[in-house]
Amino acid sequence: MSPFVIGEEYERSRLLEFLGSGQTQSGVLWGREEQGCLICTSGGRGGKKAGYSDERISDGTWWYFGQGRTGDQSLRNAANSKLSSGNFSVLLFTTREPTAKEVADRGTYGKLFSYCGQFNVSGFEQFVPINGSRQGDKLWRFRLLPVGEEKYNYYSEQNDLALDSSSDLREMQHRLLSLNSSRVEPRINLAEYRSRSAAVHLYASLRSNGQCEACGSVAPFTRLDGRGFLEVHHLTRLADEGPDLPSNVAALCPNCHRRAHYSIDRKDFGKRLQDAIELKENIIAG
Ligand SMILES: [Zn+2]
Repeated sequence: MSPFVIGEEYERSRLLEFLGSGQTQSGVLWGREEQGCLICTSGGRGGKKAGYSDERISDGTWWYFGQGRTGDQSLRNAANSKLSSGNFSVLLFTTREPTAKEVADRGTYGKLFSYCGQFNVSGFEQFVPINGSRQGDKLWRFRLLPVGEEKYNYYSEQNDLALDSSSDLREMQHRLLSLNSSRVEPRINLAEYRSRSAAVHLYASLRSNGQCEACGSVAPFTRLDGRGFLEVHHLTRLADEGPDLPSNVAALCPNCHRRAHYSIDRKDFGKRLQDAIELKENIIAG
C-alpha cells in the first residue's frame, strides 16, 4: 500500500519525502515516517564491469545485492542488517540517467527512479563474482518476493508446519515464536517462506475468534470454509504478507484494515492496536 504507481518515474526527493529521510547516499533508503519500509534502488552500481548485478528472475522475484562498495560485504551494516532481518517491506525502484532534454526541463542531472512494486525479503545468500572489479569479494544478495499475488488464499493454504484450525492457540504461539518466524534465513526456500506466512495468518485468524481485533465487530461474512472473513494486517510493515511474529499481526474487518493503512489517525490507531494485541498475546502465553 504505497503511493507509487508501478512503471511511473519519480525524483529522488519524492522518495525521501515519502520515507521522511535525509539520506544522501544511493542504494537502500529508510526514514522515520514509514518505519516498516525500505526503499531499494537498483542500478548505478554492479554490472558487467563489477562482475555482478541486481537481476529480475523470470518468476517475478529479484536478486538484490547488499551494500558495501569495496571488499567483503557485511550483514552488520545498517542497510544489510535491515534487509536480512526480514522485518521490512521493500519498495523497489530501478534507476536511469536522464536524457539531455530531461536535464534541461528539470534543471538537474539527478537520476530518475522507476517504481517496480512492493516486495518482502524471503531469503539471502552469499555470492562471489568470478570476474570483474569485485572478483573474489564475498557479497550478499537478497531474494525479493513480490507482494500481492495470493492475498486472500492464506488461511486455507496447506502448510507443512502442521498447524490447523484445531490446534491449541498457546501451542501455535509457542511454535511460531520458536521458529523466530519474522526473520529470514540464508537459503530459506520460497515454499518454506510461504508456509510460515500461511501459518501466521491462520494463527491470527483463529486468535480473533471471528471478531475484528480492532473494533470487535463480528466478521462481515462467512468464508467458504466456515470461518469469519477478516483480513490479516501487519502492524509494523507496509505489506500484509510474509511471515511474522504473532504479536505483529492482527485480524481486522475490512473497514478497520483500510483505516490502519489509509486514515489520518493511522499511527495512533496502529499504536492502540499494537497494545491490544500485546495484551492478547500475554494472556495466551499465560
Ligand atoms: Zn474492525
